[in-house]
Amino acid sequence: MHSSDPGTVHIIGAGLAGLSAAVRLIGARRTVAIHEATAHAGGRCRSYYDQSTDMVIDNGVHLLLSGNHAALSFTKTIGSASGLHGPAEAEFSFIDLLSSEHWTLRFGDSRFPWWVFDKDRRLPHTAIVDYLPLARLALASTDKPIGAVINCSGPIYDRLLEPLLLAALNITPSEGSARLASTLIRETLALGGQACRPLLARDGLGTVFVMPAIAYLRERGVSIAFQDELTALRFANGRATRLEFTKHTVDLDENDAVILAVPPYVAVNLVPNLLAPSLFRGIVNAHFRIDPPVHLPPMLGVINGTCEWIFALPGRISVTISDGGELFNAPRADLAQTIWREVAKVARLPDTLPPWQIVRERRATFAATPEQNGLRPTAETAWGNLFLAGDWTATGLPATIESAVRSGYRAAYLAGHQLKAAA
Ligand SMILES: Cc1cc2nc3c(=O)[nH]c(=O)nc-3n(C[C@H](O)[C@H](O)[C@H](O)COP(=O)(O)OP(=O)(O)OC[C@H]3O[C@@H](n4cnc5c(N)ncnc54)[C@H](O)[C@@H]3O)c2cc1C
Repeated sequence: MHSSDPGTVHIIGAGLAGLSAAVRLIGARRTVAIHEATAHAGGRCRSYYDQSTDMVIDNGVHLLLSGNHAALSFTKTIGSASGLHGPAEAEFSFIDLLSSEHWTLRFGDSRFPWWVFDKDRRLPHTAIVDYLPLARLALASTDKPIGAVINCSGPIYDRLLEPLLLAALNITPSEGSARLASTLIRETLALGGQACRPLLARDGLGTVFVMPAIAYLRERGVSIAFQDELTALRFANGRATRLEFTKHTVDLDENDAVILAVPPYVAVNLVPNLLAPSLFRGIVNAHFRIDPPVHLPPMLGVINGTCEWIFALPGRISVTISDGGELFNAPRADLAQTIWREVAKVARLPDTLPPWQIVRERRATFAATPEQNGLRPTAETAWGNLFLAGDWTATGLPATIESAVRSGYRAAYLAGHQLKAAA
């Protein structure tokens, strides 16, 4: 006999995976309770007040593409989609700091990659045949390093694939997983400009992904407990039976379920015998408090520099450096100066350093190698009422917002389904 209580879904972690799982469970006639270890939601995608710059900054500028349908549906549901800004058509501007050459790649607005066939849209001095590596990567069937599938040199690689894959996979592309690159290309570049429009939370990640989600969930009766860290899970008879938090314990009823939406290095300590990615890559962000000059594009890819992407945002210029491992030990002030020198050159601004902040996220994403990609677990576990979510679970995507949201949706579906079966 099952109890008539429809049960509670406990979501552990209020990053985007946990928040999207909760959003998906609205309307499922279950009580939803979120437990977050820190004092804030958003996890690796958050905004906060920074004293050095006297501004609200993001831990890192986050870029979405218009093909990220789950992430976009999440913002639509919570009512914040209008906070994402991008050009009317998919375009990416680049500068080569060595040669000072500028170019803009325009993908157009179609649902097919016509831009490859149009010499005015594709990269300068390239022919259609040069784009064959893109097709080879898109069709990669077994998981190998990208460097074993395509030649990681030449103009298409240097000027298109390297900056895009580095940003999306957060790893030196030659070491990255060809399978992840393949999914990425099939879901974006191969679908033409309609799937490649860059979108930025210009006024901060918090205003688009976090605060509206919290408001949406609270209005619908979801409880969100902060500084509520899960320290142990107990199991019996193929189910999770108890949640132990730092300050309290929850005994799970037969219809209760748990969505564990924490990073992999936390999950492996909570779930017995869990295999999960164990290597990580860092991302460095620099924020400068200054009004960007009008001639600076909203987003500029930098080739042959320390900076990788420069973003012109209201009242600030921000810089992202993916897989920035070697920069983690550099003195912060030296790093700020090095980055600013490049920004000043590109934006034609004085060399004097404006108020700045450097944010270094050491474990920004799991290392997107074929080996680590092979360690990603599915959302289902050996325990009937325990489900995993997080950008590191087996979504088939690199560790991105899109992956986190899809994982949250999937875990919510499974938890809802399990509860329905139990009812
Ligand atoms: C600097 C940076 C730049 C990035 N740029 C991009 C980008 O341009 N585009 C893009 O799509 N993605 C980007 N990403 C990746 C993106 O931020 C992540 O994929 C996404 O935020 C992951 O969400 P998540 O919910 O899976 O994990 P997390 O955000 O890590 O959330 C996990 C949550 O669980 C909580 N938690 C941990 N342990 C416990 C516990 N024991 N009990 C309770 N709670 C716990 C944590 O505090 C956290 O809130 C970037 C990431 C970083 C760091």
